[in-house]
Amino acid sequence: MGDIMKKTILTGLKPTGSLTLGNYIGSISQMVKMQDEYKSYLFVADMHAITVPNDREELHKNIKEFIALYLACGIDPTKNVIYLQSDVEYIPAISWLLECNTYYGELSRMIQFKEKSKKNANFSVGLLTYPVLMATDILAVDADYVPVGIDQKQHVELTRDIAIRFNNKYGDTFKIPEPLVTEVGTKIMDLVDPSKKMSKTEENPKGVIGLLDDISVARKKIMSATTDSEMCVKYDPENKPGISNLINIYASLTGETIIDVEEKFKNSNYGEFKRSIADVVCNFLEKIQERYNEIVDSEELEELLKNGASEVRELAKVKFEMMKKSIGLYR
Ligand code: AMP
Repeated sequence: MGDIMKKTILTGLKPTGSLTLGNYIGSISQMVKMQDEYKSYLFVADMHAITVPNDREELHKNIKEFIALYLACGIDPTKNVIYLQSDVEYIPAISWLLECNTYYGELSRMIQFKEKSKKNANFSVGLLTYPVLMATDILAVDADYVPVGIDQKQHVELTRDIAIRFNNKYGDTFKIPEPLVTEVGTKIMDLVDPSKKMSKTEENPKGVIGLLDDISVARKKIMSATTDSEMCVKYDPENKPGISNLINIYASLTGETIIDVEEKFKNSNYGEFKRSIADVVCNFLEKIQERYNEIVDSEELEELLKNGASEVRELAKVKFEMMKKSIGLYR
């Protein structure tokens, strides 16, 4: 199927924390599966990352690290337009024009804003206007669909409201996007406390397998993962959250079913079971780290980001000029 026929999707990656095995299994591997079906825009949402306080060095390091890891995990640069949000100067320009067509009431009602602004009384205005920047990312490239988790669905609905309002006021300018609630990938839990999600911003690194973890460190983390006293490899997330989480990891990385995994290890003790998981995880990490190291500082990556930004800049420029004219901002 040629690109002309394909619907477009847009995905932003917020470059905070360090990508984990949970990110890969729950999200990146799903994106890899979807990339044949859609024309995909994939960008590092670095301007979104600064709505809350950030460490300058970490932000800078993460920008390239995230893209290189996505590529190493199988994101194909010939099927995705990959770019850095802050490389496209028309994005904040469009965002301002949209902000002036968005109501304070709409933004202050956003659930994420309400939750995040409670955490720090001195929050930035950017935290409030963040959904308009997200609307800009989507509308600037005429995305058909925006794959989102439930927490971001409200922002896509707001994007639709903003776009419909603008179109009604100024004439047809924006395609109206739809949220795409994707098949939820397996949720991977923390290895130390399997009652909580493995998170890229978790403070205790022992429960989290980072995609760039040293192989021997990753192996140790699996070997000391919390289990139970039953000594029986059985999938039961409620009563055996630790073992069930390990089964999920094994099944996700090997493509085997949970029943296959239970059957395979029915006579194994937890030590043997963990060793097999550690082998699978370490092989996986070795493979992606090898590719990561080849591309992270390469010309290839620079070129790719440059081309991506230039393709999106063209699209965004057309939108910006169109909007300015509609609003009356021209000589
Ligand atoms: P976050 O790391 O919270 O910014 O999430 C980025 C994407 O990775 C989202 O689509 C999450 O649902 C997914 N994700 C993050 N952590 C996990 C996890 N432990 N298990 C499954 N999916 C995850």
